[in-house]
Amino acid sequence: MVNLIIFGAPGSGKGTYASRLKEHLNVEVVATGDIFRDMMKGGSPLGEKVKSYVEKGLLVPDDITLEVLKRSLAKIPNGKGFVLDGYPRTIEQAKALDEIAKIDAIIHLVVPVWIIIERLSSRRICKNCGAIYNLLFLKPKSNMVCDRCGGPLYQRSDDTPEVIKKRIEVYEKQTQPLLEYYKEKRVPFVEVKCEKIETTPDIIVQEILKRLKGLRLA
Ligand SMILES: [Zn+2]
Repeated sequence: MVNLIIFGAPGSGKGTYASRLKEHLNVEVVATGDIFRDMMKGGSPLGEKVKSYVEKGLLVPDDITLEVLKRSLAKIPNGKGFVLDGYPRTIEQAKALDEIAKIDAIIHLVVPVWIIIERLSSRRICKNCGAIYNLLFLKPKSNMVCDRCGGPLYQRSDDTPEVIKKRIEVYEKQTQPLLEYYKEKRVPFVEVKCEKIETTPDIIVQEILKRLKGLRLA
């Protein structure tokens, strides 16, 4: 059983790698962004609370996020680990996580800004289920239709170079202290660099698995 956190800038392919790791390791992917999205559709009291923040463009407060995370982790079958995507975002959240789970390794994706810009401008998202495609390397079978649910695909209006650069800056400022936090705690790091646009997700995933094997975690 292995518990991992994956860090990577928006557009680094984090979500894709997390879901592919699920096919190779005995883990569930716990992506707080997806969980929030599902909860807001579900209409539960906690879901309504989350919605009230997201709709105002506010960050969901730590205590609510932690509650959501606890519930998601509690649903994971015994003996199965997890890949956390989108949590923690603050040192406080990292400390709260330490109270409920042991983290075995950090996966850190390092992708140059120009590659992220290139990729995000070819990204397409399913309006219905949120599945993410990429016209460069993760093409939907049929043009502009979701493979998973048949929903229509769209391009995010904020996937422009200026906005992308800004989002990466915000991400780096937010993530740097977290990386330092885990380094200080001597949690093993799997740092994977992607330096070519044509590097496929498979190559990255194989690299991550190789490195996890080196740590005896896969
Ligand atoms: Zn879909």
